[in-house]
Amino acid sequence: MTQASFLTPAASTEPAALAVARCADCDGFSFPANVPGCRHCGAPADRLRAQPCGSPLALLNFVTVHAPLAPGLQVPAVIGEVALAPGLVEEARIDVADESVLALGMALEPVWRAGAEGAAGAWVFRPHATEAAA
Ligand SMILES: [Zn+2]
Repeated sequence: MTQASFLTPAASTEPAALAVARCADCDGFSFPANVPGCRHCGAPADRLRAQPCGSPLALLNFVTVHAPLAPGLQVPAVIGEVALAPGLVEEARIDVADESVLALGMALEPVWRAGAEGAAGAWVFRPHATEAAA
């Protein structure tokens, strides 16, 4: 799957923070922050303003997948639905070895994972430090 790295802008630097785009027209949130337009009302990118997500973020749902649904996804993998902002839920990789450590509604924190071999990096989520002690 090396050809994918040519299609994806290489993330050569680590993003400062997980960010969403807030729409000046409808006040809705979109992700990622550099979307070409508002996902709610279609407003163009110049109506959107990036703002960092709050942290921790709530885990709404999760599932362990055993099929490689995306290039580079090593399975089994835990995929969760994470509330990034009001009205904005994204599916993301949950960086845990086993879903048994997860609980609905638990606090997560975003962690940037750099891509290997020039591939684009991605945000993953881990249980917030205060809840990972167990
Ligand atoms: Zn909008």
